[in-house]
Amino acid sequence: MDAETFRRHGHEAIDWVADYLRDVEQLPVVSSVSPGEIRAQLPAHPPATGESMDAILEDFRSVILPGVTHWNHPRFFAYFPANHSGPAILGELLSAALGVNAMVWQSCPAATELEEVVMDWLRQMLGLPEDFRGVIQDTASTATLVALLCARERATGFEVNARGFAAGEEGGALRVYASEEAHSSVEKGLKIAGFGAEHLVRVGVDGDLALDPEDLERRIRADRDRGLRPCCIVATVGSTSSTALDPLEPIVAIAERHGLWTHVDAALAGSAAILPEKQWIIKGSAGVDSFVFNPHKWLFTNFDCSAFFCRHPEILIRTLTITPEYLRTPVDEQVTNFRDWGIQLGRRFRALKLWFVLRHYGIEGLRARLREHLALAQEFRQWVAESPDFELLAQVPLNTICFRYHPGLGTKRSGGAASDGDAAGAAGVDAGPAARDAEVSRGGSGSRGEGTRQPVDVDRLNEALLAEINRGGVIYMTHTKLRGRYCLRLSIGQTQTAREHVRRAWEEIQAAAKRVIAID
Ligand SMILES: *Cc1c(COP(=O)(O)O)cnc(C)c1O
Repeated sequence: MDAETFRRHGHEAIDWVADYLRDVEQLPVVSSVSPGEIRAQLPAHPPATGESMDAILEDFRSVILPGVTHWNHPRFFAYFPANHSGPAILGELLSAALGVNAMVWQSCPAATELEEVVMDWLRQMLGLPEDFRGVIQDTASTATLVALLCARERATGFEVNARGFAAGEEGGALRVYASEEAHSSVEKGLKIAGFGAEHLVRVGVDGDLALDPEDLERRIRADRDRGLRPCCIVATVGSTSSTALDPLEPIVAIAERHGLWTHVDAALAGSAAILPEKQWIIKGSAGVDSFVFNPHKWLFTNFDCSAFFCRHPEILIRTLTITPEYLRTPVDEQVTNFRDWGIQLGRRFRALKLWFVLRHYGIEGLRARLREHLALAQEFRQWVAESPDFELLAQVPLNTICFRYHPGLGTKRSGGAASDGDAAGAAGVDAGPAARDAEVSRGGSGSRGEGTRQPVDVDRLNEALLAEINRGGVIYMTHTKLRGRYCLRLSIGQTQTAREHVRRAWEEIQAAAKRVIAID
């Protein structure tokens, strides 16, 4: 493609992006295509000769876009945010243009040094201690795997790397501890790193769904007594289901007592720690060994960009280093070669987009945006708490509200004890809600339909409700299970999400609930 052709289509593409970001709200948030529908519109064989860019861009619009679920949509409330911004997109574009492979310092000095600088900026913004060194990984899953590898090697004196996993078994199987609410990437990491999934010890949680340190201590001691070898604790700050916050201070104390590696998975919630008033969520992090959070989730930096910090770069490097002759350079003693800080050799220039974002917003700009999201979450939480037909199923410390439709609940609440909405009641009392599930009757408040009442399966009702909500295409939400109960989740954090969008979500949810209960 010559420069003039590139310029023409480049301008066209940028115009398209600018319009898209401005108008994305007009599009249905979730794609409604059926499985196979996109593939069926694409040729089964690659083109033998080149096609025009006009034709390619036209197919992007007509074939690809209908199959896109718009994560950038202001009414996207599903999973977790993966938010974006203009500066991040521009940084990504320039990174694509440079197309460097930042595997070693010499292969692109600016990529390495900018990454060192912006990661240290993030470290300062989170208030992590100075001895933490940062590196960008593709995802939190990879960062957690890297942490598990470091923990494994430290525990075995680097013997597994040298002699295979049998060496690690010599002193008893290595054990990793994480709460019942920890992310699935922890189990995946154990499988890949050779620990074996059965050596992930699921630690119990308290009324707020946070790891219970007493149970952790108990399980570590029990493993020791059985001749197993406790190796690593993965603490979750902001669980995926409900943003439950494991308490780092007591966890670190236990880890230090038993000589374990502590890794913090703060993939979503870490961003909130740039707020002085939310710093407490990572209190105790000075004592952990590694920490990950994703600027690609809630810090306006397009996917992918995961910030991994480690207090022991020497262990990290020793675990992952490999120096074939063709990668040796004369400056290896003076520089950072990030190929030794992760799994992959080739590395994208991701620091560029992060640098653009941090400079464009500034710390105060980022804080202001996060504060808006947090305030919206509290407002939504309040609406749920005040509704007689909905109930909260977890605390709302950050941006995610877990709740469910429970018609007639209002009349079951005694004296409003639970109706202040704080999930302390919902989360803390286990038998209560379960018992209530069985007794809630069809038809809402119980003022009608006596004699024909049947118990409503609240889980099934909420499943139907979620399907109905998403069928509308106005908002997109997903679900989870907490303590075995099906619940709806509203996760707030898209760049353009404002109060009107959250208000609209609540209206859509209530309207869908009326339709579902009418059919049920
Ligand atoms: C989203 C999430 C992950 C996975 O993040 P990836 O970057 O997609 O690997 C892990 N842990 C928690 C707590 C998360 O919220």
